[in-house]
Amino acid sequence: MKFNPEKCNIPDRRMEPFIDPAEIWSFINNAKADKVRVREIISKSLDKQRLTLAETAVLINAGGELAEEIKAGARELKKKVYGNRIVLFAPLYIGNKCSNNCQYCGFRISNKDARRKTLTDEEIRGEVEALEENGQKRLILVYGEHPEYNPEFIAHTVRLVYEVRKGRGEIRRVNINAAPLDVDGFRTVGRSGIGTYQIFQETYDPEAYKLYHLGGKKRDYVWRLTALDRAQEAGIDDVGIGALFGLYDWRFEVMGLVRHANHLEACYNVGPHTISFPRIKDASALNINGNYYVRDDDFKKLIAILRLAVPYTGLILTAREAPDVRSEAMAFGVSQIDGGTKLELGGYAASKNETQNLNREQFRINDERSLANVIDELIDNDYIPSFCTACYRLGRTGEHFMEFSVPGFIKRYCTPNAILTLSEYIVDYASPELAEKGWKAIEKNMADLDDGMKEGLKKKIDRIKSGERDLYY
Ligand code: SAM
Ligand code: SF4
Repeated sequence: MKFNPEKCNIPDRRMEPFIDPAEIWSFINNAKADKVRVREIISKSLDKQRLTLAETAVLINAGGELAEEIKAGARELKKKVYGNRIVLFAPLYIGNKCSNNCQYCGFRISNKDARRKTLTDEEIRGEVEALEENGQKRLILVYGEHPEYNPEFIAHTVRLVYEVRKGRGEIRRVNINAAPLDVDGFRTVGRSGIGTYQIFQETYDPEAYKLYHLGGKKRDYVWRLTALDRAQEAGIDDVGIGALFGLYDWRFEVMGLVRHANHLEACYNVGPHTISFPRIKDASALNINGNYYVRDDDFKKLIAILRLAVPYTGLILTAREAPDVRSEAMAFGVSQIDGGTKLELGGYAASKNETQNLNREQFRINDERSLANVIDELIDNDYIPSFCTACYRLGRTGEHFMEFSVPGFIKRYCTPNAILTLSEYIVDYASPELAEKGWKAIEKNMADLDDGMKEGLKKKIDRIKSGERDLYY
């Protein structure tokens, strides 16, 4: 970790909150969204510069046609900078015991209807085998906050997942979404070889935060806000932030996310690897009044604003959203989505096609399609589905930052690696119809690469067809 005390104006980075609600509101209340200013800001972002809080507030206040220009700008930035790859992953819930009392979550301690379960080692193996048999390569492990889920337990489950091999399958990157730890805890988990450590602040407003977090350690807003600083101190520089949209004013949360990103960048020279923006969905015993419900049009606009404001960061859009919302919002700069998602503990191995039972799950998902169907639609919409983990495997951390900042990086690494991982998927898991479609998409995407790369790639694809795996640049 490189800590920049001179750039980081926080006396003790573990204790002092860097969110100042009055400052954020003053930006929002004073930003004037006239045409000239909005266009200047969009061009600044298209010029690959990230936006200040004041500039982000201008975009937030832009409505009508200007909001459409923001979305068009985000679409252009995505095309220009990131190309057409979408990285696929799946969540794996390890345990839903929880000592906290978050009013939006089906796992909270006061929900007596929740069926509690922690997967055994054997059950974890079974889940991972089922995921591998579907073609998954990247997982995010999810845990409630509970003394049982201590850093040693989390590290143990990560190692276990990496060990499981079913057929030609393997999990090549394990990310984590779990409670904040202390520095030693983060070190322990870091040593198990995780990819990203993801923690959502839920709401960046400290007063709203108090209303929703009524019990357990998660009541402590500052402990959570500074979690990723402790992760950095422990050597984990690949971190993901997020806000749960629907708890408070979405405009404030967007500003909070951008402030958080700026904070990490200023203090550690590296911004967040990913930003997530889940919207609240139905859950067992959900206790939310809906005053801050985020409508679809605002949701799409806020994704476009985040894309422009923090152009070097991956954006994650999950199966909480319905397929039509996902496919439209993806164009505004989303880089990762989950596919074939099941939230029920043990749900992948059981492979039941029952309707969701909210007492067994954290919240309702609205995209229940299989991974194959998600891939099929991505190809139809001219995306290349990717399971690439090359940067992480080669120690090139911050892949989204490199895609963004290193000229030619995407054509040299990301597109070829997307093609190679899609080739593996086709050979190992696709139906004949999907395979045919996939090979055509691969051919089309290879056309844009230079001749040397094309030749090299063709040879690698032949090697994959003859049984080699895990080839990457
Ligand atoms: N227990 C860990 C924690 O609180 O940090 C793990 C988090 S939880 C398993 C993953 C995320 O799901 C939460 O951070 C929250 O943002 C989100 N979530 C919780 N309830 C939700 C709901 N009803 N709808 C959508 N997302 C929800
Ligand atoms: Fe527990 Fe996390 Fe759910 Fe809160 S959001 S009740 S901490 S699982």
